[in-house]
Amino acid sequence: MQKIFGVVAGICVMACLICGGVTRSVAAESAPTRILATTFPVYQLLRNITRGVPDVRVGLMIPAPAGCPHDYALTPQDMRRLSEADILVINGLGLEAFLGAPSARVRPDLKIVDSSKNTGEALRYADGREPAGSGHGALNPHLFAGPRRAARMAAGMGEQLAAHDPVHAALYRKNAQVCAQRLDQLADEFAALGKRLKNTRIVTQHGVFDYLAADMGLTVVAVVQDHETQAPSAADMLRLVKTIRESGAGAIFTEPQYPEKTGTTLARETDIPAARLDPVASGPENAPLEYYENVMRNNMRVLEKTLGTK
Ligand SMILES: [Zn+2]
Repeated sequence: MQKIFGVVAGICVMACLICGGVTRSVAAESAPTRILATTFPVYQLLRNITRGVPDVRVGLMIPAPAGCPHDYALTPQDMRRLSEADILVINGLGLEAFLGAPSARVRPDLKIVDSSKNTGEALRYADGREPAGSGHGALNPHLFAGPRRAARMAAGMGEQLAAHDPVHAALYRKNAQVCAQRLDQLADEFAALGKRLKNTRIVTQHGVFDYLAADMGLTVVAVVQDHETQAPSAADMLRLVKTIRESGAGAIFTEPQYPEKTGTTLARETDIPAARLDPVASGPENAPLEYYENVMRNNMRVLEKTLGTK
């Protein structure tokens, strides 16, 4: 594909030399800016922020249904997509550890938009330990699963895109502002719900809801998959049962991106309900632009029903 672009560009330059400078500037302006997002949540924000922006083509690297890329490995197709992109939008905070050195070699000139930039202080994982084998580091990268942080991601992405593509700066900023306002409104609704809940102690499948919990005043008392890519051992299960019982947790929340069996087993053992919360780490291909908000509002209903209200 790179070669095809090269050939097309060559033909354009020749045509411009024949036709004169006016054609050259038209040809240069009409080349679309290709923006690639690494993960589904970042891609959905990007789609909202580039809405109606002319000459922009957006793409997603990791397949939409895949979920968090904790154990992801780059494919040849990813490398090809990287080689064709002008701008790469990443989640940041170490979630894209899989990109590594090979991607830098493919495109040393690639412009990066780090959506975690200027989003406030990052949380450390709830247990304060670095999750073994996740490649994360101790900072929790799941900003997207908390609407307040997702709003800051949108605002930051708008600013960074405006800097990289100044011709369309005003539209990026306007779209990002609209998107951030909607997400802040959603965050306000979650915070209001947090104040009404009867039990504010929860167990989550992996460390994905720490930002949402903090915004709602909830406490994550235990995490089913401490090491994210590994199922808990028998010893881990015993420790979890003890922690859940002693903490008085109100529910265990599994995720559609992970097998639910361990969570439902723990719920049965500790006699508390299990329900499914979707952090929107994945989604359908061509999801509607408001997919995140729709799923999050459903999560609100699940939290209310499972934890009860005062
Ligand atoms: Zn994750």
